[in-house]
Amino acid sequence: MLAERINEGEFIMATIQGQELCSKVEAFLASGPLQGWVGGKGVEAADGGTFTTHDPGTGEVLAEVFSYQKGDVDAAVAVADAAFKNSGWATMPVNERSALLHRLADAVETQIETISQLESLDCGKILEQARGDVQNFIDTMRYFADLALNIERRTVLAVKNHEAAVVRHPWGPCGFIIPWNFPFLLLGWGIAPALAAGNTVVVKPAEDTPLSTLYLAQLATEIGIPDGVINIVPGLGETAGKAVSENASFCRMSFTGSPEVGRLVAAASGANLTPVKLELGGKGAAVVFDDCDMDFTTDGLVGAITFHTGQVCCDATRWLVHKNIYDEFVGKVKEKMQQVAIGHPLGAATQMGPVVNAKQRERVLGYLEKGVAGGAELVLEGGAATVDGCDGGHYVKPALLAGSLDNVAAVEEIFGPVAFLAPFETEEEGIRLANATDYGLANSVWSQDLAKCQRVAESFEAGNGWINSHNVIVHGVPYAGVKKSGMGGGVVSIETLLDYYRNISVIRPL
Ligand code: NAD
Repeated sequence: MLAERINEGEFIMATIQGQELCSKVEAFLASGPLQGWVGGKGVEAADGGTFTTHDPGTGEVLAEVFSYQKGDVDAAVAVADAAFKNSGWATMPVNERSALLHRLADAVETQIETISQLESLDCGKILEQARGDVQNFIDTMRYFADLALNIERRTVLAVKNHEAAVVRHPWGPCGFIIPWNFPFLLLGWGIAPALAAGNTVVVKPAEDTPLSTLYLAQLATEIGIPDGVINIVPGLGETAGKAVSENASFCRMSFTGSPEVGRLVAAASGANLTPVKLELGGKGAAVVFDDCDMDFTTDGLVGAITFHTGQVCCDATRWLVHKNIYDEFVGKVKEKMQQVAIGHPLGAATQMGPVVNAKQRERVLGYLEKGVAGGAELVLEGGAATVDGCDGGHYVKPALLAGSLDNVAAVEEIFGPVAFLAPFETEEEGIRLANATDYGLANSVWSQDLAKCQRVAESFEAGNGWINSHNVIVHGVPYAGVKKSGMGGGVVSIETLLDYYRNISVIRPL
């Protein structure tokens, strides 16, 4: 029962798909058209234009949102710049700033159900996973608020004949462009280190999923984050996103999304000589040895590929299975994938929700067709799914393809619940096949021989090597992509925080 989870200030008012809905969700959606958030208040787009955001589970409109154009974005960046210089945020004692970020984390915690429901409705994520994402945001905010307390602002260096120190300052306004698959979690990964270091931020949420980000900005103002420190510029990628990427006043730029758009953002940042961080796509592998725990491994990989309907950048989408267990493994995963309960994201029994929009569903179905046309075997058919009472929803079934790893479905990122199977024979071959991709985000290895696991994990050409698990991201452990999966430092670790300080070396010859 939701009633047991509800916190202070959250009330049950209505139901969607038979699920009780928090009053604040109702009220927030009814307050549209939703404004961007600039200088501590809601601000409309100057031309009055809007876009709509939908429930992927039903296709129904959730809210109208003001659609920012270049002038709106540039005005927001100017506000963030002024707040950096004048609001006191950048110069505030670090313990006071950290206390405010803790207060923000606490405020999110008291409204965890409201924000989780907004997230679930907006991006089609099942409610339990949305709760996990909101909790992750809270943990991220607390992690960086605490970490900032331990960063030396002045490090004295012992060098011959000189008095020398490195002094750290925040940079200024920082830009963030965020995708639709983990809107609230990635918002936290992005802005928490920047804020903890004393920067101000301008965030462009994805047009499919702006709700939780807009809600957070209001909450931040309510709990006392100074006006202009957190600014949200909703809008389309080719207008608002482009304007963020091209604004020369940003001191740091962070983009999470597809490699195609990442290139554009990197080029625009390059033209301004703005340091840019890219967190991009993936085509991760799972290397499954014949001495794995079969039930544990098949549960883990089916769980991973159906988690958020496969719309996960670091997912294991190429399953490389030792030839001795290939047939048994395929039989087990096929059976388990057929049992996954597909439904509306708020449905109590739902294990896998819809994909985010009609375009994404066409993309997933298209890759199944292209894969088969390219010679792949359809081991588990997949295809479009229907859910009772949700006719306009964007549902797909889990699917399995098998064949040559140069097949388009094994090479390109599909971003759906589709895995590509291939057998291997030796450890060297398993590693070679896992690394035979342009991407380099995350791979996993599955075996009861932990020495072998360690060897294989360390041989991956990827930012992350996981052992007997997939999708393992822990605060304090760097998470980043290499090759086509990203550049520039990664997230959730001390390296991320250090990125948000500008260093100056101060020297006096003795
Ligand atoms: P996308 O690249 O289409 O969009 C991402 C963001 O960029 C959105 O806010 C969009 O509005 C904006 N955008 C679009 N065109 C733009 C332009 N011309 N200039 C500036 N901004 C523009 O990505 P998506 O479809 O929202 O997300 C899926 C992708 O994100 C996948 O490739 C996935 O692997 C990747 N991703 C990576 C990570 C990671 O940590 N490495 C995490 C999540 C998602």
